Amino acid sequence: MTESHPTKYFHALDDGRVQCDACPRACKMHEGQRGLCFVRGVEGGEVRLYTYGRSSGFCVDPIEKKPLNHFLPGSSVLSFGTAGCNLACKFCQNWDMSKSREMDTLADRATPEMLAAAAKRLGCSSVAYTYNDPVIFMEYAMDVADVCHEHGVKSVAVTAGYMCAAPRAEFYRHMDAANVDLKAFTEAFYRKICGGELAAVLETLEYLRHETNVWFEITTLLIPGENDSDGEIDQMTQWIMTKLGPDVPLHFTAFHPDWKMLDKSHTPPATLTRARAMALRNGLRYVYTGNVHDPQGSSTYCPGCKARIIERDWYELGEWKIASDGACERCGTHIPGVFNGAPGRWGRMRLPVRLSQHAVDAA
Ligand code: SF4
Repeated sequence: MTESHPTKYFHALDDGRVQCDACPRACKMHEGQRGLCFVRGVEGGEVRLYTYGRSSGFCVDPIEKKPLNHFLPGSSVLSFGTAGCNLACKFCQNWDMSKSREMDTLADRATPEMLAAAAKRLGCSSVAYTYNDPVIFMEYAMDVADVCHEHGVKSVAVTAGYMCAAPRAEFYRHMDAANVDLKAFTEAFYRKICGGELAAVLETLEYLRHETNVWFEITTLLIPGENDSDGEIDQMTQWIMTKLGPDVPLHFTAFHPDWKMLDKSHTPPATLTRARAMALRNGLRYVYTGNVHDPQGSSTYCPGCKARIIERDWYELGEWKIASDGACERCGTHIPGVFNGAPGRWGRMRLPVRLSQHAVDAA
């Protein structure tokens, strides 16, 4: 029998089922059933988590790959995921993990102490809960974050932001940064292509901006013909400007055909450039293109003097013109984000890791 871990966001229903309250899907389950994410299920009248302490794999990545461009630039991050997901995106680019119904996917045992020790030993500034959404394994992610903090390692959530209010408040008390996918700006897209709701995601973005100190950036994967119209990009970026302000970085990234969306073509680079130009026109200050070679679109510019202050090409950093206090070296304008003196030197390398080789006693 698979080991399970207690959770606390659920309640009993009058008809004998138990409702999970972690995400807006609100799965209503009989004893022994699993929710849509497949990793939370009912056992002994309670919702329990079945992926605590087990992972689908580890990799050391550049932080720019999450993508986060204003959070410890140039540093390395220990990325890991589990299995399952609470959305059902037809274009999922990690479907082998997120759609997995096989606990065999979770080959690596990884206690919070093992993860923190490995991150420290590998020289990573942070750990990222990624590949699949940490909303569904929040108890595990929060415990990892707590032990990592004891070792001076920060925590990054890579998420679709589809989460209920109470667990969201608890979860983000443990996180230092997040990248939130804003998958589109219509309810129709969320309903038909992801099986979710846009409104809940917008609520998470407003919550992060106005009620936490978590550093966050937004990513939108532009899919030809689905969410890349001028009208939708205009509406979305106006909403970000009005509700979140000009300083939240926005990444437009390129789609490649995957999972159940093989009939669409790759996103043309011109689409990303067009979206970026529109977002800048609407007042956003830090807008990036991603998954393409575009040194102009992936670099950071000072909103004060317009100088290029962080040069990037894909995940590689070049010219760096930010003082140790996070100000533009040329005009002194404060650049929002989390900076720690000189940039890291990790580069664009991706290093797969077997945790057992790096786990040492956390002491
Ligand atoms: S976290 Fe999983 S079980 Fe809970 S409501 Fe969401 S999909 Fe259902």
